[in-house]
Amino acid sequence: MKCSMCNKEAIYSARYNHNNYCREHFSEMIERRFKKEIRRQMNLGKRETTVTVALSGGKDSSVTLYLMKKILGNRKNTRIKAVTVDEGIQGYRSSGLESAKKLCNTLGIEHHVISFSDTYNATMDSLVKKNPMKIPCSICGPMRRDAMNEIAGIVDSDYLALGLNLDDYAQTVLMNVARGDLNRMFRMAPHSKHINGLVPRILPLIRIPEKEVLTYAISNGIVFDSSWCPYYSQAQRNLFRDIVMRLENENPGARFAIANFAEDLKNISYPNQETTEIRKCSICEKPSSSEICPVCQNLLELH
Ligand code: SF4
Ligand code: ZN
Repeated sequence: MKCSMCNKEAIYSARYNHNNYCREHFSEMIERRFKKEIRRQMNLGKRETTVTVALSGGKDSSVTLYLMKKILGNRKNTRIKAVTVDEGIQGYRSSGLESAKKLCNTLGIEHHVISFSDTYNATMDSLVKKNPMKIPCSICGPMRRDAMNEIAGIVDSDYLALGLNLDDYAQTVLMNVARGDLNRMFRMAPHSKHINGLVPRILPLIRIPEKEVLTYAISNGIVFDSSWCPYYSQAQRNLFRDIVMRLENENPGARFAIANFAEDLKNISYPNQETTEIRKCSICEKPSSSEICPVCQNLLELH
């Protein structure tokens, strides 16, 4: 199999655009898409900008940090930092944390760690034990988002970059459709500005399929942790992962179509959202779409 751009041996073939890529042209294509997204999602004017990458140590966040450094690392007015959330999941988080530290050392990136036990006085393992009926990710997700927002604010970030790839994004869109949750669809990242104390979250890998993120990480020798969270098998997301894969197999390009659809919808309807009132949680006073935010709700139920 030859590269569609040159005559070298191809390492990757994309069904959705019928192109084959050699190592060099593959990396070039990924970097071009990443660059396009950061230009679209970030306001990279002349003022000082700090972007903090949420680094779990897995392939997606590691590639995000690597590319952020490669593309923005030489800009004088841009600072890049990384944060890792330690949820307190035995046998999983420590290896991710180790990879995250290694990568930050290699790239010369300031790295911060925030733990559930310091922030909420509880580990994920203890929270799961206390409420075995609850899906672990529904406890973990809001707390992770809250912890990341907290630390991103503390280290003065203008943006918090998450390593969600195209597959993740398409799954999230379909999950919101299946729940009929238009509000949540509008609140999905990428965000363009601070709203009520929330650091805007950006998704630079939003146009890069998961397999391509993995291929990029391997072909560029990026250190990442490939262990899986022990609670992942209970995630509702798994059903949507299968649905997205089936749609893509039958109809190559379906993932891009779902992502474009969601972005178009957000753009058409966003002005109405600006006037939507965002409440404050009656317990922690952080911005919340409900009377009590999901983090306080979890802690109330579980303590
Ligand atoms: Fe948390 Fe679920 Fe991710 Fe595990 S898979 S780290 S429980 S959100
Ligand atoms: Zn709260």
